[in-house]
Amino acid sequence: MVSLKSPREIGLIRKACAVVAQILEELAAMAKPGISTAELDRFAEARARELKAVPAFKGYHGFPASVCISLNEEVVHGIPSAKRLLKDGDIVGLDFGVILDGWYGDSARTVAVGNISPAARKLLEVTQEGLARGIQQCWEGNRVFDIGHAIQNYVEGFGFSVVREFVGHGIGRALHEEPQIPNYGPKGKGIPLKVGMVLAIEPMINAGSHEVKVLSDGWTAVTLDQSLSAHFEHTVAITPKGPEILTLI
Ligand code: MG
Ligand code: MG
Repeated sequence: MVSLKSPREIGLIRKACAVVAQILEELAAMAKPGISTAELDRFAEARARELKAVPAFKGYHGFPASVCISLNEEVVHGIPSAKRLLKDGDIVGLDFGVILDGWYGDSARTVAVGNISPAARKLLEVTQEGLARGIQQCWEGNRVFDIGHAIQNYVEGFGFSVVREFVGHGIGRALHEEPQIPNYGPKGKGIPLKVGMVLAIEPMINAGSHEVKVLSDGWTAVTLDQSLSAHFEHTVAITPKGPEILTLI
């Protein structure tokens, strides 16, 4: 069942999302050559608790950390490690969520570490713009696949591909609520979008083929062809005036 949130409830989700956006901004600034992914994770958890929030991913289905940190060919769900140091030229996906007063916020971005290749830069730009185009579909009267259709149509125009195995989701009292939001699909299909829906939209875009596999750690998804992958996510409320992005800083 899809739950519709009242303006008051959206206000509470907005507060959780503000914490997420703030911490992601800080993490992005820290993502420099030489820092370990475990250090980023520790910082995010401590910062969340300082802001009276609880990291949403730690312990979720057994995930061992607070931030999913995915480097280069890793698509999503990378596990932070003290042995994993960022280096010049990497792209690093930072996916973070919190619970504040019982409400969830969820956002992700992929950032450049030092100087990255023009090809990597293009992938980041196109993925971010793909997300923006998906968000622009979040009006009552549109349908859920309109979001993915807009994303797919845009990113495939650059020769990139959309990951199929992982999708966006409703969010609120739980991290993952209905509906699922694929980042691909036919225009005009799926359930109707309604005012009061709060959706985490999160395209994962590969430079090569769309195929992924999960590593033996049971979490880290990587591109099958080892091509680069980027991930951007916002939590978005559908209002009478269209989409409101709740995870903007
Ligand atoms: Mg996320
Ligand atoms: Mg999410």
